[in-house]
Amino acid sequence: MVILIMKRYSPMPRFFILITLLTAFLNASVVERAPWPQGESFLQFLEKKGIPQSLYWDLDKEDKELCEEIRAGVYYYTMYDDNRSSIEQVLIPLNEELQIHLKLEGGRYRFNMIPVTYKEVTESFAVSIERSPYQDIIKATNNKILAYAFVDAFKNSFDFTRLQKGDMLAVVYTEKIRLGRTYGVPVIEAAMIERRKKPYYLFRFNDRYYDERGREVEGFVFRKPVNRVRITSRFTLRRYHPVLKRYRAHLGVDFGGRTGTPVMAAADGRVKFAGRLGGYGNVIKIRHRDGFLTLYAHLHKFRRGIRRGKYVKKGQVIGYIGSTGMSTGPHLHFGLYKNGRPVNPLGVIKVTKKTIYGKSRKKFLRYASKMKKEIEEAIDTNAAPTKLEDLSEAMMPFVREERVGG
Ligand SMILES: [Zn+2]
Repeated sequence: MVILIMKRYSPMPRFFILITLLTAFLNASVVERAPWPQGESFLQFLEKKGIPQSLYWDLDKEDKELCEEIRAGVYYYTMYDDNRSSIEQVLIPLNEELQIHLKLEGGRYRFNMIPVTYKEVTESFAVSIERSPYQDIIKATNNKILAYAFVDAFKNSFDFTRLQKGDMLAVVYTEKIRLGRTYGVPVIEAAMIERRKKPYYLFRFNDRYYDERGREVEGFVFRKPVNRVRITSRFTLRRYHPVLKRYRAHLGVDFGGRTGTPVMAAADGRVKFAGRLGGYGNVIKIRHRDGFLTLYAHLHKFRRGIRRGKYVKKGQVIGYIGSTGMSTGPHLHFGLYKNGRPVNPLGVIKVTKKTIYGKSRKKFLRYASKMKKEIEEAIDTNAAPTKLEDLSEAMMPFVREERVGG
């Protein structure tokens, strides 16, 4: 038996958008679903699809910046008219919350950011360990991303090599479902490993992981990429601009500062990219361990010797604040990604590991005891996890056609 708890229903406005959109798609004869090609820019995409590039040039700078956030491999949808002679709509997910919507209206394409509608389900299950937590979770669920997330959450606080056959693991996680498929990265809400009958717990609280006693268990520590500068814009996956009446996202933090202010690597890592990137101007991307990647944009220039493949130390100067690309004034746009997914940098930059004290401690303990009950229930009922049916689909490299409606 699977425990399904429906959490957080979509608020009304989102709901209406879903309906209009689905209706529009259902009336169409052909909808194509395809992964975004590696290395393709939004401009190249428009050219390939025969959509005028003026659409891009007419965008404002925030939207142009967001066009750089389209990820290779993400599935986008193209809707054609009956005889496939013209593209009527395109949907390109930017992140788990927001997508680009192109629509043909009166002979012109309109560009809009619209929310992604999805359903969230929370599931829990327990399995006995036969080979390793990673392999056993995959065997039980077919869900590699979930298995990775589980191991990732525990790896700084638990030694997996000491596990034995017959030990146990349990997990409570939330997954997004969209158009009948799981979507995005599952979030582990609570997890337990039982070694020789002794349980070790992890609880997610305010976006971080803590043990049963409220001590933080994550090990990765970033530093601020700039000194003595102010934050001019914060991170948001989706926000509604009440004046412009539009949705927006800001997938990083902006630090305002004078041109030439040194920019430092937020952690040790290897330079993955140093060059020009459309709306982001001069960009450095650094790959760190544990699936983290940092992005530094609008740089005036790079420090000498900073190029692809170069290893950099935390705090090492890599470039200088500037105003290249789509930028109104000198600032650093600092982005942080975990396994390709944008996360709030301010949630991860910290000096030391923390223990929860004070008022939030009470809240944490209440939450932890509720989650513990859920885990115990999963063990007692021997709940079988939901198995993903078609894992290969996520990696399918070619275009797939789907007939929707008549
Ligand atoms: Zn920015």
